Amino acid sequence: MSKVETTERLKPPAASPPAASPAAPLYANRTKVYPRQVSGPVRRAKWAVLILCLGLYYTVPLIRWDRGPNLPDQAVLVDMTSARLFFFWIEIWPQEVYYLTGLLVLAAIGLFAATSLFGRVWCGFACPQTVWTDLFMWVERRIQGDRNARMRLDQHPWTREWLVKKAATHAAWLGIAMATGGAWIMYFNDALEMTPRFFTGGASPEVYFFFWMFTATTYLLAGWAREQVCTYMCPWPRFQAAMLDENSLVVTYRGWRGEPRGKAKADGVGDCVDCRACVNVCPTGIDIRDGQQLECIGCGLCIDACDDVMGRLGRERGLIAFETLANLARSEAAAKPLRPGPGRHACGMAARTPPRFLRPRTFVYAGVLGAVVAVMLGAWLLRDTLDLAVIRERAPLYVRLSDGAVRNAYALKLVNKTHEAERFALVLDGPRGLALLVQDAATDAEGRPLLATRPDGITQWRALVTAPAGLRLAESSPVTFRLVDPRTGRAVESTASVFLGPKP
Ligand code: SF4
Ligand code: SF4
Repeated sequence: MSKVETTERLKPPAASPPAASPAAPLYANRTKVYPRQVSGPVRRAKWAVLILCLGLYYTVPLIRWDRGPNLPDQAVLVDMTSARLFFFWIEIWPQEVYYLTGLLVLAAIGLFAATSLFGRVWCGFACPQTVWTDLFMWVERRIQGDRNARMRLDQHPWTREWLVKKAATHAAWLGIAMATGGAWIMYFNDALEMTPRFFTGGASPEVYFFFWMFTATTYLLAGWAREQVCTYMCPWPRFQAAMLDENSLVVTYRGWRGEPRGKAKADGVGDCVDCRACVNVCPTGIDIRDGQQLECIGCGLCIDACDDVMGRLGRERGLIAFETLANLARSEAAAKPLRPGPGRHACGMAARTPPRFLRPRTFVYAGVLGAVVAVMLGAWLLRDTLDLAVIRERAPLYVRLSDGAVRNAYALKLVNKTHEAERFALVLDGPRGLALLVQDAATDAEGRPLLATRPDGITQWRALVTAPAGLRLAESSPVTFRLVDPRTGRAVESTASVFLGPKP
């Protein structure tokens, strides 16, 4: 059964949204949403994720990590000065930005896999927009009261109570937003060193710019825009349909059990008493009984709300539940012939099968995920800690000296990714007779230039290669610069280049 068919069948006819007419306006004013407080297992799980995510975000820059002298001791730091990313024991250089690309690919595939298994679990639980909006709503509720109190307050604006409560809410929001902006800049600067400088006005203009930028975006997106970010700004709801199938767990209303909805004590009605508790707690203000909708972020709060109602009525919980569309269709088919009531319920639930987590698409995601992890791990284990870049000077291509010799100049860039200072002998492999000289470098007993490197840094040298007069060479001869460890005599790095001269 196709996903679309399943979704359509589950929509109760009475609650189906009106078909869009060609004359429908393209713009609609926002209807403010006043989500009611709810408690239950899903809400508790959301609090746990929120505390974990925010706790990590605000405290990680304070964690210290000893890397030795002259290196930052902040565990997670994007050091713009040295162009380095530090993550505990891992250090990424600008040349290794492909590791970050790999991480982004991993995150994307992980998100695809999670969506295919559990629907919009990311959106409903861990997305920063959801987490900060949840926090802002909690603050709003603490100051202005629950849904009804907030609605009453907004019906009488500009009263003293309205002004005080709104001012307090916005002040608290701004405080959180500033803490968020402040924490963000600490990922790019040493937190312990930057904090006093920041408060005394000694930080750079860029630091203040990014602080205010993140403060403003947090305040606007979590305080004002809220569900509109998910509905209109975020592209994810648009293409997540490609990852979902009828075996993905999504928040669903068991219409076969709930319909026809009606009063609790009425005859011939389903389990839904049309109390709208599920609608009132929804952070996006939708009615899950209308079927799967783009606006549903899969937060599951309507499950807690409805379970609470069912519990109070002494009915089986799970009228709204994390369920697969395949199971929903099976239950609906099995329960259809029966009249509303317990028999119908038992019949529908018995038709369910355990969710199928092992499916072709989850194997594909797991395979791709494993392959990317293996490639990244392999690249990391085989990573060079020493890198020699050789750039031939092009203007001029070569110089003819007064004695008839021909000289080429090369810029050598030696990257040492270890935390130790090192020394290497430089050897030139190429046509016999070429002479190598490195400006400002000492030489060893064999007359080879010795290149000293800084720990965890880049050193630059200028090398001159000379072909004496009379040495017959092609217009372009391949040469190789080789770094040799003077203690072991082993070549540790080599880079190829060319030696250019006049036509023979
Ligand atoms: S909370 Fe449950 S019973 Fe109340 S309207 Fe929603 S689905 Fe029906
Ligand atoms: S319909 Fe339910 S799961 Fe979807 S956003 Fe609203 S409360 Fe969350």
